[in-house]
Amino acid sequence: AKAHGRGRWSFFTAEMHSDSIATKQLATELLVACDRNEFVPYFQPIIDAKSGHIAGAEVLVRWSHPKRGLLLPGDFLHVAQAMGIMNRIDRIVFSALREEMQHFDETGVMLPRVSINVSAGRLEDPSFIHDIKSSALDPGRLVIEILESVYLERMSETVRWALDELNELGVTIAVDDFGTGHASVQGLLKIKPSILKIDKDFIRPVLDNDDSKELLAAIMGIGKSLGMNIVAEGVETEAHAQLARELGCQYLQGYFFGKPMCAYDLHQILLKTGG
Ligand code: C2E
Ligand code: CA
Ligand code: CA
Ligand code: CA
Repeated sequence: AKAHGRGRWSFFTAEMHSDSIATKQLATELLVACDRNEFVPYFQPIIDAKSGHIAGAEVLVRWSHPKRGLLLPGDFLHVAQAMGIMNRIDRIVFSALREEMQHFDETGVMLPRVSINVSAGRLEDPSFIHDIKSSALDPGRLVIEILESVYLERMSETVRWALDELNELGVTIAVDDFGTGHASVQGLLKIKPSILKIDKDFIRPVLDNDDSKELLAAIMGIGKSLGMNIVAEGVETEAHAQLARELGCQYLQGYFFGKPMCAYDLHQILLKTGG
C-alpha cells in the first residue's frame, strides 16, 4: 500500500501537517493577542431608513496583528471559538467599546445604539451576563445580535435564562442573518427579538431581481406582525436602499452607507452629520 498510494498519501499528510501547524501558530498568536489586547472594535453605521440619520452601529471585531496588519473575523474567529477564548476576546472588545462610547458622549457626539455579535457558545456561558453587567455599557443602548438557527432545535435553560436576563436589563435582542440557514417562525417565537436582520445573501438576490420580491415581503410580513423592526443588510447601491425602503425596512446597513470603520472615523462622521 505504501508504494502504491504513496505519492498521494504523502501529499495529503504534508498538507494536513502544514494546516495544523498554521492553526497551532494562530492559536499561539491568539493567546498572545489576548494578553496584549490586540482586538479592536470596528463600527458599521446602521441608518434609519426614513430620516437617513445614523441610528446606531454594529460592532465588528478586528485583530490588529503586529506583523500581519488588520485581520478580519473570518481569519481567526473560528480558531478562537474552537479554543474557547471568545470570552477573553469579548471582554477586550467590550472594554475598548466602553472607552469609545465614553469618548463619544464626552465630546457631545450621539451614537444612539451599538449592536454586538454574540456567538452561540457565549449565551450558554452564564459568565456572559456577568460580563455584560460589569462592562459598564449602557444596557438601554445595547443590541445583542444572535443567530436564530442555533436555537431552532432546542433552547437550553441557560440560553432561556440569558435572554430573559438581557430583556430585564433593557438590552435589545436582534436576530442576525435571518433568511439563511433554517430560519423559521418557531425560532422567532422562541427568541422574540425586537429586531430582525435580513442577511445580505438573502436580500441581495431580491434587490437585484424583482421576481423574488414576494418571498421577502412575506417573510418581512411575519416579522412585522410580530412587532419587529427590520434591518436590511448588505445594502451596496442606491437602488438597493430604495427597494429596501419600499419593502418597509426600518433600518439599512451596507457598504453604500459605510464600510466598517475605526472609532475615530465614525466619530468624525457623527461630528459632521451632527449625530
Ligand atoms: P455579520 O454579523 O453578518 O456582519 C456583517 C458582515 O458583512 C461584516 O463582515 C461586514 O463587514 C460585512 N458587510 C457589511 N456590509 C456589507 C456590504 O454591503 N457588502 C458586503 N459584501 N459585505 C458587507 P466582517 O466584519 O468580516 O464580519 C464577519 C462575521 O464575523 C460577522 O457577520 C459576525 O458573524 C462575525 N463577527 C464579527 N465581529 C464579531 C464579534 O465581535 N463577535 C462574534 N462572536 N462574531 C463577530
Ligand atoms: Ca451581525
Ligand atoms: Ca448579519
Ligand atoms: Ca453573516
